[in-house]
Amino acid sequence: MTRGFYIGRFQPYHNGHQAVLERIAREVDEIVIGVGSAQLSHELLNPFTAGERVLMITRSLSEITCPFYVIPIEDIQRNALWVAHVRSMAPPFDRVYTSNPLVMRLFEEVGAEVHSPAMYERQTHSGTAIRERMLRGDGWEHLVPPAVVSVIREIDGVERLRQIARSD
Ligand code: ATP
Ligand code: MG
Repeated sequence: MTRGFYIGRFQPYHNGHQAVLERIAREVDEIVIGVGSAQLSHELLNPFTAGERVLMITRSLSEITCPFYVIPIEDIQRNALWVAHVRSMAPPFDRVYTSNPLVMRLFEEVGAEVHSPAMYERQTHSGTAIRERMLRGDGWEHLVPPAVVSVIREIDGVERLRQIARSD
């Protein structure tokens, strides 16, 4: 039994994340998805709550056959202890999938098996680019799975982002 671990902030979850997870699903028996900076929400870089991000991910992956678990993980502000913190919250896993250099480094230092999935159209498919499009009023819906569009509509997410971007 191989369990793969994939972590992100998913602000929001987009087609790049989905493409990587669909590939991971073909390589492992089960997937553990960590929702990082779980305590953050209602800010420009982190508009959505952990629960909202869990909804986006769970609904978007409803069709994949590989079992998966979505685990919110709060920040601890101590990188040297972070891997132990993640392991204390997540189901056991033997393989880490990440392209984030810090995450890669922290897992490598404890001898974990780290895989770096290729980026999927990174220029357009990034959380930052999508949040900017939402703020500008440009179309963003084509960059995320349909389930994410409906979650963001349900929570009035674009208006939340615009409102917290205003000055008082
Ligand atoms: P932000 O711009 O807010 O940092 P992001 O798109 O980088 O958003 P994260 O939640 O930070 O998304 O990333 C989670 C993981 O997904 C990271 O390992 C990141 O490298 C990876 N990732 C992000 N975009 C893509 C993409 N287009 N293709 C493949 N992997 C991606
Ligand atoms: Mg990122």
